[in-house]
This record gives sequence, C-alpha cells and structure tokens, in this order.
Amino acid sequence: MREDLTGAMARIVGEANVSDRLVDRICYSRDCGPDPAGIPAVVARPSTTEEVAAVLRWADEHRHALYTRGRATTFLGSGVKEGVILLDTTRMNRIERIDTAAGYVDVQAGAIWHGIDADLRRVGWELGVPGGGGLFSCTIGGTVAVNAIPHGATEYGMTGDHVLALEVVLANGTVIRTGSWANPASEPIERNANGPDFAGLFIGSYGILGVITRVVYRIRRAPESELFRFYAFDDYRDLVAAAGGIQGRGAATFLVGLFGGPKPAGEEGDAFFHVIVRDRSAVAEGRMHEAEAIAESHGGRPRPAEGTRHYWQEHMYSWLRNTGPSAYYSDRPFFCPEVAGFVSTPGLADAVALFRTMRAEREAEFEQYGIRVKGVDAYFARNGAYLWIDTLYDERR
Ligand SMILES: Cc1cc2nc3c(=O)[nH]c(=O)nc-3n(C[C@H](O)[C@H](O)[C@H](O)COP(=O)(O)OP(=O)(O)OC[C@H]3O[C@@H](n4cnc5c(N)ncnc54)[C@H](O)[C@@H]3O)c2cc1C
Repeated sequence: MREDLTGAMARIVGEANVSDRLVDRICYSRDCGPDPAGIPAVVARPSTTEEVAAVLRWADEHRHALYTRGRATTFLGSGVKEGVILLDTTRMNRIERIDTAAGYVDVQAGAIWHGIDADLRRVGWELGVPGGGGLFSCTIGGTVAVNAIPHGATEYGMTGDHVLALEVVLANGTVIRTGSWANPASEPIERNANGPDFAGLFIGSYGILGVITRVVYRIRRAPESELFRFYAFDDYRDLVAAAGGIQGRGAATFLVGLFGGPKPAGEEGDAFFHVIVRDRSAVAEGRMHEAEAIAESHGGRPRPAEGTRHYWQEHMYSWLRNTGPSAYYSDRPFFCPEVAGFVSTPGLADAVALFRTMRAEREAEFEQYGIRVKGVDAYFARNGAYLWIDTLYDERR
C-alpha cells in the first residue's frame, strides 16, 4: 500500500517532491506545541492548484485521510493523524499580483507572511494587518485558516477581516473561488460583493472544509508615523477601564496589556499596557494625545516607551517586558503550552482575577513541576480582548 500511495503522489507532484522516509515523516508530525501527534504515511509538496486538486481527488477516491500543513507554527497540538497524506503547501509561495490601484495582493497560500509584506513595503504598501507574532515563519494560507489574531488588532481587527477572496480546493478536488472573484468577469474587490460570502466558511476552519490555494488580501499604504507609549497601573481593573475608553474612541492602533508573568524590567505596578498609534503624521499625534488623556484619567503612569518601540518594530516578544530575549529563553529546552481566548473588555477583568486566584492556589504544584508563567497578556481588539496565558516548563519532564 505504501508503494502505491507514494507512487501516486509522485506521479502528481513529481518524485523530488514526495517523501515516505521515516525521518521526514517524523519532522512533519508536530507543530510548535507540546502535544505529540501521529506520523504521516507520506509527505507531498505540490506547487500548483491543479496538483492540490489531483492529490485531493486521489485521496477522495481511495478514502485516504489528508492533513494540510503550512509552517506548523500553531501551539495547539497539530491535527496530524497516524498514516495521513501530509500536504505541505510551502512550495506554493508565488506572489501572483500586487495591485495598488485596486488595493489588493493575490498570492499563493504557502507564501510566508513577512515575505509578502516585505515585497509590498518596497512599493510603500503593507498587508491589511501586520500579522501575528509568528509572521516571520507562518504562511498566509495557514494564518487565514486559523484566522490568527494579529498585531494591530485594536484598529485593524482580525486576519480574516481583510481577506477579499479565496481560491479553495474542496475535498473531492473541485476548485472554487469566493466573493466577487467567483464571477470570472469580476476582479476580487470585496468579499460580500455580487453574491454570498463563502470565504467566511474557510476563514478559521483549520483546513477541515478545504485546502486554501490562493488568497487575495487587502493592502494599505504604509503609515507615515508610528508613535509609542507605555503605562503602569497600580490596579489591573483601572487598566481594563482605560483600555475600554481608548477602544471606544478608536484612538489606538494596538493596545497590549500585561497582567502577569515577569514584570517589565525596572518597573513598579500591578499591570501595564503598551500603546501604539500608526497613521498619517497629521492625525497620529492627535490620536495619541487622546489615548494619553484616557490612560492618565484612569491612574495610568507614563513610563519610558523604548521597549514598546522595540517590540513593535523589531517584533521581539520579550521586549513587551523591556528585556532582551534571554530573560525568557535562557533555560531551554522548554515546552510553551498556551491557553487563549476572546473575552469582552469588561469580562477581561474577571478572567484575570480567576487566573490570579488559580495561580495562587496552585503555587506548590507550579514549584514542584518547575512551571513558570511567561505571560498573562492581552491583545485588545476592537470590542474585546484576546487573553493568552503562556507557561514554560522543562521539556525533558
Ligand atoms: C513566535 C510565534 C508567535 C505567534 N503569535 C501569534 C499571534 O500573535 N496571534 C496568533 O493568532 N497566532 C500566533 N501564533 C500562531 C501561528 O503563527 C498562527 O497560528 C499561524 O498564522 C499559522 O500559520 P501556519 O502557516 O504555521 O499554519 P499551520 O500551523 O501549518 O496550520 C494551522 C492550521 O491551518 C490548516 N492549514 C494550513 N494551511 C492551510 C491551507 N492552505 N488551507 C487550509 N488549511 C490550512 C492546518 O491544517 C492547521 O489546522 C504564533 C506562532 C509563533 C511561532
């Protein structure tokens, strides 16, 4: 059976783009998280939509399970089951078109997020959202498939909000296009134009409804100005109230709250937030003044914001706490399991309280197993917050 499967895949994607070597298959079994997964039977690396469709048709006819993989940067435990065909999209990394007049980029699903953005920046534009923290490695297809929560979410919203159209191969090999792109005579202008929005079915579906092969994504002119502030609060509930006020006024591009884990280097306080404003120069200062006034009216103390700038411009997580990377990562190897979810902004205060209580009650267990809390952090979105709790513990245990 193995020969048949490998041979069939090789006929579709070429001998050089298939492997059933155990060492390769093991490398494709896990994501960035701690959970073990199954080992695929074969890895196939198509480069075109037609090849993806042929692989899916073969899998459908032979009733063989298949898993689609971008760059496996999730922390959730990969969905790879024992013996699946593993479809690796990373050879599908071509930018088909940058159209600044119509405001979109059309790209194959396996292209790396940051690579697309780098090409856009050469012409003064950028993707509709800056991407999540995995932007240097993740694919655009995988990021749309999980509807990642991006940096800049306070103003720009979710990854899926900027998808204009998708090309998707369904489980039986049928290729569809969504939004206005479904009409062959139309350009991919809007998701909800000229018909129902089928793109929404695939955004956040984790690949279970089809394989995304092309993404048409909204682009914007890169802003002229980026401003940074950092605030300390003596009570996390005041921070949550201030964040709600700033959200209500649409003043910030991005707010990141720190509610636990190591304190920012040299800082006193119970909770902290980073404020980032991006806009045209004439507008950015006014928005930042508004954010400052709201933060200070809730007891926020302005602190040096070099760490905020470093975090945003260098994309270094550790600088959220004004420290270099070694402050987190000195004692490798470690697991970094993550718990995350959306809450309303007022509900965030309850969620933080619950975590703090649980953490205090389990002090001894955290000590016994060497578990460290890396962060209890929140990305503020437009009308809520994405809270994530990261822990670190020794992988060998
Ligand atoms: C350092 C770091 C920081 C991160 N920060 C964030 C963050 O700020 N916000 C956030 O939300 N996430 C974050 N993540 C998680 C991760 O970056 C995202 O989930 C990522 O965008 C997934 O892309 P990927 O290419 O790695 O997809 P994969 O992990 O390969 O796949 C993810 C899921 O999508 C499916 N899939 C992949 N490609 C396709 C496709 N073409 N068609 C259909 N289904 C597909 C897979 O089957 C799987 O279920 C971070 C990760 C790292 C390593």
